[in-house]
Amino acid sequence: MKLLVIGSGGREHALVWKLAQSRHVTRMWCAPGNAGIAEERLAGNSSLVECVKIGAEDLNALLAFAKEQRVDLTVVGPDNPLGMGIVDSFQRNRQRIWGPNQRAAQFESSKAFSQQFMEKHGVPTARSGIFSDAAVARKFAEGLGGRCAVKADGLALGKGVLICGSPSEANDAIQQILVQGAFGKAGTTIVIQEFLEGTEISLHALCDGQTAKLFPTSQDHKRALDGDLGLNTGGMGTYSPVPFLTAKESAEVGEQVLGPWLRGCHAEGIDFRGIIYPGIMLTKEGPKVLEFNARFGDPETQVYLTRLESDLVELLDASVEGTLSKVDFQWRSDSSVCVVMASGGYPREYAKGRVISGLDDAAKLPNTKVFHAGTQRAREDFVTSGGRVLGVTAWASTLQQARDAAYRAVEKIKFDGAHYRRDIAAKALAN
Ligand code: AMP
Repeated sequence: MKLLVIGSGGREHALVWKLAQSRHVTRMWCAPGNAGIAEERLAGNSSLVECVKIGAEDLNALLAFAKEQRVDLTVVGPDNPLGMGIVDSFQRNRQRIWGPNQRAAQFESSKAFSQQFMEKHGVPTARSGIFSDAAVARKFAEGLGGRCAVKADGLALGKGVLICGSPSEANDAIQQILVQGAFGKAGTTIVIQEFLEGTEISLHALCDGQTAKLFPTSQDHKRALDGDLGLNTGGMGTYSPVPFLTAKESAEVGEQVLGPWLRGCHAEGIDFRGIIYPGIMLTKEGPKVLEFNARFGDPETQVYLTRLESDLVELLDASVEGTLSKVDFQWRSDSSVCVVMASGGYPREYAKGRVISGLDDAAKLPNTKVFHAGTQRAREDFVTSGGRVLGVTAWASTLQQARDAAYRAVEKIKFDGAHYRRDIAAKALAN
């Protein structure tokens, strides 16, 4: 099979790495890819994965490439092309592609759509309202005592959610998003949710329109600094599985959320083929969904795919074909930990082009994989080219061992201004 993977981050490197292990794959491209992806070789015939200079949002060029190369399956990593309708465009042109179509991708591209859907179909969620009028929104927030989450409807690079603790903070948030247009068109409608207290988890499930197969649990670390301080980022590290939820409890939460979600999709004629990834708060009254994503998480993918034993090509194929109920997922019982090494200053301004050393030493460590996110080649060197630079991932039979191994690899890698959190998975081990 010939595969095309779309995207350029750590998630896509993990996807490429895992897909390349499949005996079904004879050739693979990644558009646009990164310097780490360009080093991967196919297990079947040792050929290199080829990076092609087409952006993830250049839908026409991607389609033309897939047709020209007779790609058998295109795998979409990021949310933007999904929201733009890449799956619909490929399907119209009879090209096989994995990911939700534009209508199904609305679970991520529109928080108002998701919220309405959840309320209509009994998916447990926060009390909420949808607004385009600031005065009405203020009144609703006041009714919650100002303790709420104010969210831009559309995609805002993960920054469109403001958590408020008082009516004046809520007013400021409404003013910023709805009146001043801080997130442009994404914020012409807002969702206000009551503030929920509890433990936050995220779930991933692979769907084929009929069946949703739940992944093991994982937990992300969104803030830039140790102790969950500092600014929100795309994710500074993750680990799997989480110790505070047994496999049975996780399956129950999955059923409470995904049961009504799937039934709602059927009722509405939404054909969701891809990853559904709800962010969930475990509250005293049970699990409640904060939001949905419609693609693999980054860096969750890095820990999931290092634990996955099954052939990922077969799983994605079954998701496209609607045959997931016949497929068994095999997961290693190992724990996996991913520590993100970022450029100094991220998520604000940061320098690029810093030479990265120590990658060869880290590569020699057992059960360790350094996934590249923001890297480029500059002659013989790997240099930094993004905020999140590397996702250093290790797996072992215990979480403690996996964590120690990931940090051992991190210590081998150096670049000017490198920043990483030192407490990834620490909370899980303190319990
Ligand atoms: P979202 O992108 O909607 O998941 O929001 C980003 C983050 O804001 C979540 O991961 C939570 O930590 C927090 N958050 C969102 N909605 C709520 C809510 N209703 N109550 C408490 N925290 C929330």
